[in-house]
Amino acid sequence: MEAINFVIIGYGGMGSYHANGIMPTESERIHLVGIYDISAERQNVAVETGLKSYASLEAVLSDQTIEAVLIATPNDYHKEIAIQALKAGKQVVCEKPVAMNTAELDDILAVAKSTGNVFMVHQNRRWDPDFLVVRDLYHNQKIGDIFQIESRVQGANGIPGDWRHLKAHGGGMLLDWGVHLLDQLLWLVHSPIKQVSVDFSYILGDEVDDGFISYFTFENGVRAIVEVGTTNYTKLPRWYVKGTNGTAKIDDWDLSGEIVVATGRTDVVSPKPIQAGVGLTKTMAPPSEEATEKYPIQSVSANFVPFYQNFYEVVRNGSEPIVNNEQIRLVLSLIDQLFQQAGIS
Ligand code: NAD
Repeated sequence: MEAINFVIIGYGGMGSYHANGIMPTESERIHLVGIYDISAERQNVAVETGLKSYASLEAVLSDQTIEAVLIATPNDYHKEIAIQALKAGKQVVCEKPVAMNTAELDDILAVAKSTGNVFMVHQNRRWDPDFLVVRDLYHNQKIGDIFQIESRVQGANGIPGDWRHLKAHGGGMLLDWGVHLLDQLLWLVHSPIKQVSVDFSYILGDEVDDGFISYFTFENGVRAIVEVGTTNYTKLPRWYVKGTNGTAKIDDWDLSGEIVVATGRTDVVSPKPIQAGVGLTKTMAPPSEEATEKYPIQSVSANFVPFYQNFYEVVRNGSEPIVNNEQIRLVLSLIDQLFQQAGIS
């Protein structure tokens, strides 16, 4: 098995996560040789950890021993670096969001097509354990037919870092977390979108969105809410999913939460009215004990291989990419549409 020699372009937070967290688990397939970063500080960190630091992008691209690059720079550089790398004959992995908009992606894909090199986007959150649980519930009807999906990430730390505050660099939360959540949703539901609306938040006074709430209706009848917030001092569950036979609430990435399903028993006594505030309700009373069963959230294994293993198979054996570029384009064109709807160009 001949490993693929890689260089990381942009050795910041995510670049170093690939180097230290993801690539080492595929060490038989992926051999990280070095990095290129415009920051002298990041170059030094790389050298200290035993990696080669290239003096320029051109130096990386002209190194014939390097077969592939990972692009992990701020978003506005993805397109130019991807195109140069593809033209130099490199196979390319690119961090999300793949580009600033669909027009940029189309330029990249045209070069990938003409060069015949692999271009694959690191939509890693398809492998998140919480998403895999929802995917399992959805495809195996474990809470009946799912008709409502609420997917949220919320924090109280504002927009992180420097370039994420700036429009020119592709900052803002729709292009950051939004890409992940929309990628998960579209990959899960597999149905055209009938209706969509969005409300961006600018609470922090940045020039880019610090969050958003979006509503979707799919042609197969599924409805979804996708929300990202950075001003939430206490947060809503990561997932709230309703099916015709139950409800799942996944509180966080640690899989805390519960799945409640209807037992379908016929001997169930009807719920008794309860005191609610200063009133009485039967509608909102908890179901009687026999009516439902509760389960903890349990992790499910993915029936597909890890990202870099798949990338290796795509490059070496022409396998199908798990993250394919039509899906990536669909997500990016949805993002274009959401910005357009809100009058953001
Ligand atoms: P970061 O600011 O921590 O790192 C970016 C690095 O790129 C910095 O070290 C910077 O010096 C370097 N850089 C800037 N311009 C460059 C250029 N022209 N050439 C070479 N190096 C350059 O940012 P980050 O959080 O690591 O984000 C980088 C990319 O990774 C973004 O596209 C982001 O969306 C993505 N990301 C993905 C995930 C994920 O889960 N898939 C998570 C975080 C970030």
